Amino acid sequence: MKPPVFAYHRPETVAEALDVLAEVGHDGKVLAGGQSLVPLLNMRLAAPAHLVDVNRLAELDVVAREPDGVRVGALARHARVEDDQAAAGAVPLLGQAIADIAHTAIRNRGTVVGSLVHADPAAELPAVLALLGGTMELASAGGSRRVAAADFFLGPLESAVRPGELATAAVFPAPPAGSGSAWVEVARRHGDYAVCGVGALVTLDQGLRVGSARAALISAGPVPVPVDLTDALGGQPHDAADWAGAGRLAAAAVDPEADIHASAAYRRHLAGVLTARAARAAAAHAASRLEGAA
Ligand SMILES: Cc1cc2nc3c(=O)[nH]c(=O)nc-3n(C[C@H](O)[C@H](O)[C@H](O)COP(=O)(O)OP(=O)(O)OC[C@H]3O[C@@H](n4cnc5c(N)ncnc54)[C@H](O)[C@@H]3O)c2cc1C
Repeated sequence: MKPPVFAYHRPETVAEALDVLAEVGHDGKVLAGGQSLVPLLNMRLAAPAHLVDVNRLAELDVVAREPDGVRVGALARHARVEDDQAAAGAVPLLGQAIADIAHTAIRNRGTVVGSLVHADPAAELPAVLALLGGTMELASAGGSRRVAAADFFLGPLESAVRPGELATAAVFPAPPAGSGSAWVEVARRHGDYAVCGVGALVTLDQGLRVGSARAALISAGPVPVPVDLTDALGGQPHDAADWAGAGRLAAAAVDPEADIHASAAYRRHLAGVLTARAARAAAAHAASRLEGAA
């Protein structure tokens, strides 16, 4: 199918984009990489009267290593962030998760910020932002604001971006020293959206025991599901902790739905198994980073 008729705007600066977005309000949609929006238009599941193409806003094409983490501008594609060595050093979970997003062609075009705004409950990056306690930066003709990840994902395909607003960047905080991370998911074919996926972050103390551990799960509820695993793993050795106990905490926390790919019970089972694997891998990652730094 072809998309419904729309007016096309291609601003050259952020200021110009914000003026157009203010003018078109509820009738406008931002077009970034188009990897989610264009299929929605073609299937006529979305019919905005105005498309505001932000691909010429070079000032948003940034991936910056900052003192506290990594700032990803709205034009940074998945592939660029995945390949950025400074970003990978500060926030390894970014590259670990992006590797499981779709295929190379889609990662070359789709943007990190577009994925966050799109807020698909099966997408990897909303869980990464939630797990790290990151922030979205939003701008409009009336000013700018920051929204914490915990307040940004409101429901399936629903984020806190308001009509007239442009998401300009996402900030992914660097985890504390002694941390390691892992991303684990099950998809029917490589590149498909995950049937269930888990990001885990484990912080070890100097004795290589678990100080804190948490996870965020996708395809397990309407928004990423955060789970604190410290009750199951805290104080235990990095290579012999109660991983199954961590999995049980996750399985109890999720509220998955059934669809044509999996029953709710199978998704809950996956949540437990994958959380146990992700936590163990994150602890091993933390230990190897600490040993590498010694
Ligand atoms: C075959 C296929 C498989 C895929 N598999 C996966 C997968 O496994 N995991 C995954 O996470 N994703 C997957 N995707 C989606 C892909 O990651 C998209 O790139 C991403 O979801 C959206 O990024 P985009 O830049 O293409 O956004 P667009 O499609 O341009 O926009 C998506 C939505 O976000 C809004 N938007 C975008 N940028 C901004 C902004 N700066 N400010 C305000 N609003 C904005 C748009 O208005 C639109 O509503 C897949 C896509 C395809 C086609």
